[in-house]
Amino acid sequence: MLAVRFPGFRVTGVDSADSRIRIDISVDSNSAKCPDCGGTSTSVHSSYLRRLRDLPILGNPVEVTASARWFRCRASGCSRVTFVESLYWPARRHAQRTQRGAVVLRSLVSLLSSTLRAALAFSLGIRTGSSTLLRTVDRSLL
Ligand SMILES: [Zn+2]
Repeated sequence: MLAVRFPGFRVTGVDSADSRIRIDISVDSNSAKCPDCGGTSTSVHSSYLRRLRDLPILGNPVEVTASARWFRCRASGCSRVTFVESLYWPARRHAQRTQRGAVVLRSLVSLLSSTLRAALAFSLGIRTGSSTLLRTVDRSLL
């Protein structure tokens, strides 16, 4: 049994096929706070899935599928109708990688030449090209 821990999240499934590992997670809470008024809501409007590339396990690529929910804000006086819960740990908004995966990539890029970074990333099971590594670093510096 694969033991996986994601603080603040519950693991809802683990699957491996074709040397790829998929880990399904969701926020371990029944409520979320409205970003405008700070009120707590338990009224789920809808949900969607984010697919994030994570650090490999034993050289096998890992995809984290994070379920994110939209909530309704029912606080009187708040103009916001819906909001998405914060996935504060796994990844930044619109990111395609987990935060910890991005940290490893930034370290590779800062230490190696382009040829060596691509070769090392490949040997670690991180499927990306040299230009993607550079873009990852560029975005992190913004
Ligand atoms: Zn609100």
